[in-house]
Amino acid sequence: MSRKPIISGNWKMNLNHWEAIQTVQKLHYSLPKEVYRDVDVSVHPPFTDIRSVQTVIESDELELQLGAQHCHWEEKGAFTGEISPLFLAKLDVKLVVCGHSERRDLFGETDEMVNKKVKAIFKHGMTPIMCCGESLEEREAGETEAKVLGQVVAGLDKVKADQVASMVIAYEPIWAIGTGKTATSEDAQAVCKAIRGAVAAKYDAETAAEVRIQYGGSVKASTAEDLMAQPDIDGALVGGASLDPEEFSRIVQFA
Ligand code: PGA
Repeated sequence: MSRKPIISGNWKMNLNHWEAIQTVQKLHYSLPKEVYRDVDVSVHPPFTDIRSVQTVIESDELELQLGAQHCHWEEKGAFTGEISPLFLAKLDVKLVVCGHSERRDLFGETDEMVNKKVKAIFKHGMTPIMCCGESLEEREAGETEAKVLGQVVAGLDKVKADQVASMVIAYEPIWAIGTGKTATSEDAQAVCKAIRGAVAAKYDAETAAEVRIQYGGSVKASTAEDLMAQPDIDGALVGGASLDPEEFSRIVQFA
C-alpha cells in the first residue's frame, strides 16, 4: 500500500487577499510541475482569501488544492459569523482542517463538534484534515497516547471505513505549534503509528493502511526530510513556514 504524501499550508489568520494571490503565484513558480505526481499540495487561506485563490488556481490551471481552515457543520441558518461547508464546496475547496488545537483551545471546539464537522465535510464532497495532539503537561504526565487516540476515536464516531481511508489525520503536539520546537522524528513516528493502530482497531488493517497521517508543529525545510522519512508519517501540516513560498516549496520537495 503506497500512500501519496500530502503537504498542507495552514496560513492561519495571515495574508489578505492581495497577499494571498501573490503568495500562491510565487509558490507556483517555486514548485516544479512534476512534484504533483508524487505529492498532494494544499493551501488553507483565511475565508476572505478563498475566492481570490480559487480564481488563480482555476485561471492558471494549477494543481495546487484549495483548502479551508475551519467550517460549521450546518448548511445554513442563524449561525452569525460561521461558514457553511456548502459554501466552501461551491468554491472548489477540496480539504478542510477541523479540530485544530487553536480552535479547540481558543474557541471551545469539542470532540463532538469536530465529529460533526468531519461528517459535514464528507457530506459536501470534501476531505477533512482532522487534527489531534497533546499539551506539554499531558506529554510529561505520560498521557500522550490516551489524549491523542481519544480525540481520534471520538472524532471518527460513526464515520464509515471508506471515508476514513480517504481522509487525513494531522498529529500536532500542541507544544510544538509555533514554538520552534519540533517533535523528534522518532517521537512523531511513534504517535503516528499509534494513531494508525487505533484506526486498525476501530476499523480494519486496510483502512489503517490507507489513511494519511500528517505531522504538524514547527515543520521547516530543515526538519522535513527526517520527518517525511518515517514510515507512518505521510506529510505535514505546516503553519508559519507555509507563509514563505520558497520555504514551503522546499518542504514539499522533501515529501
Ligand atoms: P506551525 O503551525 O508550523 O507554525 O507550528 C502548525 C499548525 O498549527 O498547523
